[in-house]
Amino acid sequence: MKTSIILISIFLLCTSGFCAKTVLLVENGNAKSVILIPAQAHEDEQFAAKELAEHIEKMSGCKIDVVKETLGKGWQINPGLGNKGVCYIFLGTCAMTPEIEKAIRSSGDDPASFMIKAESNPSGISNIRIAGLSPEGTLFGVYELLEQMGVRWYMPGDIGTVIPEKKTIAVSEQNTIQVPSFHARHLQMAVDRTWYRRMRLGGPYFPSAHGINIGKADINKEPELFALVNGKRQQSQLCISNPEVLARAIKETKNYFRKNPAAPWIGMGPNDGAGFCECENCRALDGGDFDDFENEVSMTDRYIWFFNRVLEGIADEFPGKKIGFYCYSCYMKPPVKVKPDPKIVPAFAPISLCRIHGMSNPICPERSYYRKIMEAWGKILPETYERGYFFNLADPGFPFSKVHAIRDEIPVAKELGIRGWRVETIPHWASMTPTIYIATKLFWNHTSDVDALIHDFAKNFFGPAAVEMEKYIVLMDSALRDADYHTGCSHDLPFIYNPSIMKTADQYLKKAESLTKGTKYAEKVAIFRLSYDYLASFLSMLENRNRFDFVSAKKDLERIQEIQQKAFQYEPKMFAQGPATSYMKRFFSPCIEQGFERITGKNVFVAGLPDEWDFLIDPVSIGEEIGYYTTGKIGGNWTKIKTKTLSWSDQGLRYYKGDAWYRNSIVIPEKFKDKKVFLWFGGVDELAKVWLNGKLVGTSPGKAFVPFEFDVSEFIHYGKENLIAVKVTNKKLNELGTGGITAPVMFYMQEKN
Ligand SMILES: [Zn+2]
Ligand SMILES: [Zn+2]
Repeated sequence: MKTSIILISIFLLCTSGFCAKTVLLVENGNAKSVILIPAQAHEDEQFAAKELAEHIEKMSGCKIDVVKETLGKGWQINPGLGNKGVCYIFLGTCAMTPEIEKAIRSSGDDPASFMIKAESNPSGISNIRIAGLSPEGTLFGVYELLEQMGVRWYMPGDIGTVIPEKKTIAVSEQNTIQVPSFHARHLQMAVDRTWYRRMRLGGPYFPSAHGINIGKADINKEPELFALVNGKRQQSQLCISNPEVLARAIKETKNYFRKNPAAPWIGMGPNDGAGFCECENCRALDGGDFDDFENEVSMTDRYIWFFNRVLEGIADEFPGKKIGFYCYSCYMKPPVKVKPDPKIVPAFAPISLCRIHGMSNPICPERSYYRKIMEAWGKILPETYERGYFFNLADPGFPFSKVHAIRDEIPVAKELGIRGWRVETIPHWASMTPTIYIATKLFWNHTSDVDALIHDFAKNFFGPAAVEMEKYIVLMDSALRDADYHTGCSHDLPFIYNPSIMKTADQYLKKAESLTKGTKYAEKVAIFRLSYDYLASFLSMLENRNRFDFVSAKKDLERIQEIQQKAFQYEPKMFAQGPATSYMKRFFSPCIEQGFERITGKNVFVAGLPDEWDFLIDPVSIGEEIGYYTTGKIGGNWTKIKTKTLSWSDQGLRYYKGDAWYRNSIVIPEKFKDKKVFLWFGGVDELAKVWLNGKLVGTSPGKAFVPFEFDVSEFIHYGKENLIAVKVTNKKLNELGTGGITAPVMFYMQEKN
């Protein structure tokens, strides 16, 4: 199927009504047109008429009639309109002619496609025909015409809607055919349904593909159905080589299609997380490939083998049905041994790769690998989808422009034959505008002029502050594009949005604020200010935290929480409540709040460890055996590493999994002798085992990024150097690019009662 946008005639907006080659809809506030819908109109055709009439009324104050098309059956034009210079706007099936359908289909047969045929007849009756290959296509045609009139929906709700005021409305004569670039255009976020349609999102929805349904199964009664891990059966995954698992999956898949006969596919795959079966038969299914990004054996072959068997098993009853699965985690790479059934449909979710940059950005070798993944799968399977990330994963909602990345990758996806998108996004409108808007435009037409879209957004959304806000948007977008920081977690933000960028951004906002003061645009600038202040407070909080000033850091945290509350009050919500609060709580608040408690009230700060520690990776876990924690051994080729200011990823340890050792020494003053002194860690990723002066003081509870502490009063050598040794084990999470010690470490004293 050809899917491309063809604009047969480039339209020319004319608002005067006197231009040649225009069709007049409203003249000086008076109706010069009528909307005609089929006598048996589909609900989308009715909605299309409603949207068109309502927007025209909002623009001009003029109400346009919507009537059922019964031409030739006694229908008469509204006598008030006269019959000269009047325009009939036909929608849907009553606009469709064999010629129009042929013309659309010559460009593509996606049901969302449409044609707008506008013909002017100044001495008689003009015609506009908006005909879709489906009722939804007609609706999208109406949205195209409204956008030609200057209407915009940059985000849901009134705040994102721009409707120009004009007493006279005319559109150009045209033969516009549009076919979407991508068959499926979806954002995985809870948003207003009307906005979704106005952005022409839709098409087949890729199924959720975590897990395999085998019906009810009890691990206590039938342990052999489940994964064998370290010699024990566990529920993390299924033992997919077990014929019983296959038989039950086939049965449940058939049941699913019996209940959902219209569904083209069923989603299927491993559960989210690891714990794959290590039994001999499952291992024999693997192709011998290794996933370097996940540091695990590639699981793709065994699952493709399984999907092939399921498709064979359902073929007698459902020969055409497909299986959708995510190319994700350690099953992102294509199979090396098994040839997949062409009815297997992969969707790429490259969570292990950098989520900041686009694949063609020379600053990001890691992301360039994504093109290889797309290409390789595209060669072995006919239908592929994108199920990536258009936001900063695990981020509480700081400004995050991905315009630079999507303008790079969406056209590449088109070139490589990707059929559609179901992208993970969050409705953080204050931080993701205009990224999400531009993404929807590129989904519809991958050749859209992105600079023009940014310019158009700035001009219409910010009015008098257009120039300053366009500069702001471009600055914040290029900050991410040009930063040699990867993955997409919040730990690198102080470097990406460095003081010079923050200062320039602030200047743009201040100017924009003064230019919009007292106007309807002020609130729109205020939304961007909200997101900027949120980021600025976060950067200040990290800086204060890192110098053990938890009192100031806590004030920053409170400011962050205040801004969150403000953002939640907007409709649409400028930050999504879940991510904004939960990620802040998970990654940063515990350290700030507990740090504050440990240096205030009856507690006193004793000494803080420096940012830089001695460091050794221990990939074979020999460190304890050879005594890296002991005081007597000073050698061993230790190197240096930063802790609270730089992530592992920033220091060349992007994919390291395993043990690593940290050592540092510090003098604890004599005056704290006989006091209750604690050694406190603001957070590690993931597990820590801690020694002081060669003696084991304890291990962390094992929850990454959460503070922990030990009473070390009896281990301290007061008035002398104290050697702290920490063994950190990092095994699981790697999409954040963090590992080891990630937050401040300090000694504090608790006043005895
Ligand atoms: Zn197994
Ligand atoms: Zn990158």
